[in-house]
Amino acid sequence: MKIQTALCFIISICSFQALSAWQYPNNARFAISLSFDDARRSQVDVGLPLLDKHKVKGSFYIMPEQMIGYEKAWKNAGKNGHEIANHSQSHLCTGNFRWLRKQDKGLEQVDLNFIAQDIKAAQQDIINLTKQQPTGFAYPCGQTFVGRGKAVKSYVPIVAKLFDYGRTWNDETANDPYYYDPAQIRAFNMDGKTFNELIALIEQAKFDNAWIVLAGHEVGEKGLYSIDVRALEQLILYLKDPSNGFWLATVADVNRYIQERLKQSHSNNH
Ligand SMILES: [Zn+2]
Repeated sequence: MKIQTALCFIISICSFQALSAWQYPNNARFAISLSFDDARRSQVDVGLPLLDKHKVKGSFYIMPEQMIGYEKAWKNAGKNGHEIANHSQSHLCTGNFRWLRKQDKGLEQVDLNFIAQDIKAAQQDIINLTKQQPTGFAYPCGQTFVGRGKAVKSYVPIVAKLFDYGRTWNDETANDPYYYDPAQIRAFNMDGKTFNELIALIEQAKFDNAWIVLAGHEVGEKGLYSIDVRALEQLILYLKDPSNGFWLATVADVNRYIQERLKQSHSNNH
């Protein structure tokens, strides 16, 4: 047992060193993704034009119902290289939210089968409306469970089965490429923050090869569920400046890049 532990330790040190040497595209030391949930209208009216102006790509987690009337804009967003991903049909979170209580809905009162069907229905609608095939999922409210108490179950395995990755929310850490689980990619909340607060957050969160995912909702005025459009523009300019060391890409692209690097280094080590 002791020998095995020692061997594992040596192997992990070796592979860590091999991995430490790699860099993200453009010699970047860190990766960062900008993501937006719910397919809110201000994302189409304000967010997408801003990203397009600066030629950067974002990840958008779509509730199909929210796309109604904006189908063409979302279809174009996908065509232009933004990531179109899945955010479920019913957007179930804990029923403690008043807007869900009023509808007698909540994660506490459904089962895994309901969640699986809900995600699949959204997937089909998104494909029909945008002609894009989502490869990622963002857990509504960042919550990953169904049921109550001893009967609580995680629906992370469903997401792991249906998608390349799942993204949570309101987390407190960046993703460590040597460790993270693609089915639970961690994301910071970027809503309601000034540019300086966003930079402070990024500075605190980054470590060697860290992948920082930011997630927000409306784009316009600063608010509880809204990122200030000026702060977002300043942030984009900061992240695009190569001297700051970031590779800015969609969640799907960064995840794919890291997974390929890990696979390569794994096969090199054996
Ligand atoms: Zn949402």
